[in-house]
Amino acid sequence: MFEHDALDIEQRASTGALPPRSRVAELVAEADERYAGLDDGEVADYIPVLAAADARRFGLTVAGVDGSLHEAGDVGIAFSIQSISKAFVFALVCDELGHEAVHERVGVNNTGLAFNSLIAMELNGGSPMNPMVNAGAIATTALVPAASSEERWVWVRHGLSRFAGRELALDEVVYRSEAETNHRNRAIGKLLQSYGRLDSDALEAVDLYTRQCALSVTAHDLAVMGATLADGGVNPMTGEQVVSAEVCRDTLTVLASCGMYERSGEWLFEIGLPAKSGVSGGIVAVSPGKGAVGAYSPRLDAAGNSVRGQRACAHLSRSLGLNLFASVRGGASESEESHV
Ligand code: GLU
Repeated sequence: MFEHDALDIEQRASTGALPPRSRVAELVAEADERYAGLDDGEVADYIPVLAAADARRFGLTVAGVDGSLHEAGDVGIAFSIQSISKAFVFALVCDELGHEAVHERVGVNNTGLAFNSLIAMELNGGSPMNPMVNAGAIATTALVPAASSEERWVWVRHGLSRFAGRELALDEVVYRSEAETNHRNRAIGKLLQSYGRLDSDALEAVDLYTRQCALSVTAHDLAVMGATLADGGVNPMTGEQVVSAEVCRDTLTVLASCGMYERSGEWLFEIGLPAKSGVSGGIVAVSPGKGAVGAYSPRLDAAGNSVRGQRACAHLSRSLGLNLFASVRGGASESEESHV
C-alpha cells in the first residue's frame, strides 16, 4: 500500500509552517494527478446505500491555519462523514466533561481488532477501549450532555457544524439505510449496557451515533474541521474557538494511535500524522500548528481506509514536510522559515 514512490523530496523537520502558498497549490494538484488513476480497493457495501457511491470520485483539500485553502478534484462532492464524526464528537464531549472523565469512561488504547468488534470489549472486561472504534464512539456519544434525544442531536450537529464553519445536514437516505441494518452496532450498545458502561439508553445512544455518522460533508469540510484541530481549536475560516487547545491535543493523540483502524501503526510509521478515516471514503489528516488535509475517494483497502486518500496524504505529508516525527540536524531548514 505505502510502497515508496520515487519522490525527490528531502526530509524536512516537522516544525515551522506550511511551505509558500504557490508550492502547496502545486503539490495538491500533483497529488491529485498522481493518484486519480489508482483503481485498487472496493467501495463499502455493508451499509447498503454506500455501495451506490461513484468510485471515480477523488477530491483533495489542504486547509492552512492561516485560512489558506488549496483544492483539487471533487472537493464539493457530498458524502456521509461516518467514522470521522467520532473524532469531533469526542473533542466536543471532552471539551464539556474534561480529559479525566472521558479517559476513565472510554479509554485510549488501540484494540488491534476491527472497528466494530465485540470481542475487543469481551477481552477487556467490557471496556470500549478507545473512542475511534464503534464501542468507544457509542460510549462517547452516550455522554452528550443534553436533556432529550432531540436536544442531544442538535448539540452534536451544531458542534460538528462549528468545526466545519457551516451548517451540516443529515443525509436522511444514509441514516435510514444504516438504521435499518445496524444490528451489530445495536449489539455493541447492548453489550456496553450489560457491562454498566452506559448511563443512558443503549439504543438511543446507537441511534444518535448513527445520525452523527450520516452527516453530509465534503473533502473541503474535512480539511477545515481538521485545521480547527490543528489551530488550537479555533476554526481558521470563521475565527470561532470551537474547543480548547488541550482538547485538540487529546483528540489528536487518540487519532495518532487509533484513527486508521487496524492500520493505525502502519499509517503513523509511513505518514506520521494523526488522522481519521471513514468507510464512505473520507480521510482527515492533521498537522498540528500547520493545517489539515481532507481527502475523499470511495475505494477502500481491507481495513476500511480510502486507497487514493492514503496515497495522497502520504505524498502531501512528505512533500509538505508534515510528518510529526521528522527532524533534521540543526532544526528547521531554511525553506520552512518562509511561510505562506
Ligand atoms: N456508521 C459506520 C458504522 O458504525 C461507521 C463505520 C466507519 O466509518 O468506520 O459501522
